Amino acid sequence: MNVVLLGAPGAGKGTQAAVLTKQLGVVHVASGDLFRKALSENTELGLLAKSYMEKGDLVPDEVTIEMVLERIRQPDCAPGVLFDGFPRTLSQAQALDEKLDGEGKRIDRAVYIEVPEEELVKRLSGRWICRECQTPYHSESSPPKVAGKCDVCGGELYQRADDTEETVRERLKVFFSQTLPIVEYYEKQGKLLRVDGDRDIEEVSAAIARLLEAGNA
Ligand code: ADP
Ligand code: ADP
Ligand code: ZN
Repeated sequence: MNVVLLGAPGAGKGTQAAVLTKQLGVVHVASGDLFRKALSENTELGLLAKSYMEKGDLVPDEVTIEMVLERIRQPDCAPGVLFDGFPRTLSQAQALDEKLDGEGKRIDRAVYIEVPEEELVKRLSGRWICRECQTPYHSESSPPKVAGKCDVCGGELYQRADDTEETVRERLKVFFSQTLPIVEYYEKQGKLLRVDGDRDIEEVSAAIARLLEAGNA
């Protein structure tokens, strides 16, 4: 099964991905995590992505598509993939469909987590992330058990440089102008599931599980 998680920055894609990958037995592929890894390793890709990420703009399609397609070629992705943060433009969505089509595979479902803009800003300004396993936390809504440490792996928590109010506003603008059209793209293909993401983490997880089950019935 291949599933795309759609939602604005802060909608809870990473949070729900942690639950969903276990439920579905698929691999979590987050384009933002891949870029941050490249950045921390000072690779050519990381250096290229840096200036775009700092401004909250999208990294050009060509590099992004190549990076993600390269990742899903790895053998661990064979059981299926949960895409998080990719695709973010129509040409990324089309490139992904073409690639999967060539292998006799497809995107089965796209789950769109909807959250009002002011709530997104609140979530991102309090977000903390594990440096080791990328699990997201929130200083108010989902704090770690031990301050500054990841519940899952004990890794150090940090705040992303692009989670400042100014960059967040830019990222939201980019989402509504460049990414929202792919909601319609998946809707036309009959694959879209909409979820109200403005409630507790557990309630959102339960709603997604119900929708995916109903969709497969
Ligand atoms: P969030 O989870 O807050 O939405 P991400 O971690 O997915 O943020 O992305 C962080 C940044 O990485 C983006 O602002 C963008 O610069 C870059 N990026 C991630 N995914 C893509 C993509 N599919 N296309 C272009 N740029 C991307
Ligand atoms: P995305 O990957 O879509 O950018 P994250 O999963 O990183 O979003 O979540 C953004 C922030 O909001 C994190 O700090 C996370 O702990 C918090 N969060 C996620 N889901 C919820 C929710 N349903 N209610 C409140 N806070 C949430
Ligand atoms: Zn961790």
